[in-house]
Amino acid sequence: MASFPQLNIFEQIINLPEFKVKNYRFIDGFGLVLILEKKEKKAICPQCGKKSNKLHQNHRYKGRDLPMMEQDVYLRVNRRQFKCSHCQTPFTEHFDSIKKTRTYTERLAEKIITEVLESDVKNVARRNGLSEKEVETILKEKFSDLETEKPKGLKKLGIDEIAWVKGHKNYCAVLVDLETRKPVDILEKRTKECLRECFERWGTEVLENIEEVSIDLWSAYKNLVQELMPNAEVVADRFPVMTAGDAFGVMRISNRRVEIG
Ligand SMILES: [Zn+2]
Repeated sequence: MASFPQLNIFEQIINLPEFKVKNYRFIDGFGLVLILEKKEKKAICPQCGKKSNKLHQNHRYKGRDLPMMEQDVYLRVNRRQFKCSHCQTPFTEHFDSIKKTRTYTERLAEKIITEVLESDVKNVARRNGLSEKEVETILKEKFSDLETEKPKGLKKLGIDEIAWVKGHKNYCAVLVDLETRKPVDILEKRTKECLRECFERWGTEVLENIEEVSIDLWSAYKNLVQELMPNAEVVADRFPVMTAGDAFGVMRISNRRVEIG
């Protein structure tokens, strides 16, 4: 059994304040497995909003987290199911850092998306010890999460793209908050109609707050941005790649379109 100071150090390193580290294990050729437990003993019933501690069932969860010192990191945590003592509704507890039915932490998903935007699916999969399919799944699941959310406090918006369907020239649009470096929406297609639909879903409250929009590759969307975001200034691509051609005053715009497989 690991000692308290050891576990305490792990707790500080992994920095997931909702959990305490109960134990850990290094498995050769596999990585570091951290056994976690939620600190809060009670959970809020989504039905009546009251706190409950009446345990109904235990569900062991295993998921990937950010790698550490070139080791893959896995979390093992018990996601408890409660039965509300007020309204009798059974419900599963919520984790801030790991969404229900997901096999990875939120911060791993964010890291993967950021890396894909700066590189491509194939390289990100290889670098993170994931399959291309797993990277695609992370992107698609994040896409369905963001579909129901609206960005908060968005001031600087970046519009980027990722190619993700095997054998087809199929690109999706990724909208990024350039201040937090987090994706705020992922659209299945990078068409003007899809972008318009997304912006309209955000509503004027979000759109009027946007001060700057960085458009990567598609100057065709400038009009749409100007029409819907009255206070936004449109700027050029934020990741220009400098090449030998730069010596002659030529700048190549980064092209991150990559076929999978
Ligand atoms: Zn209840």
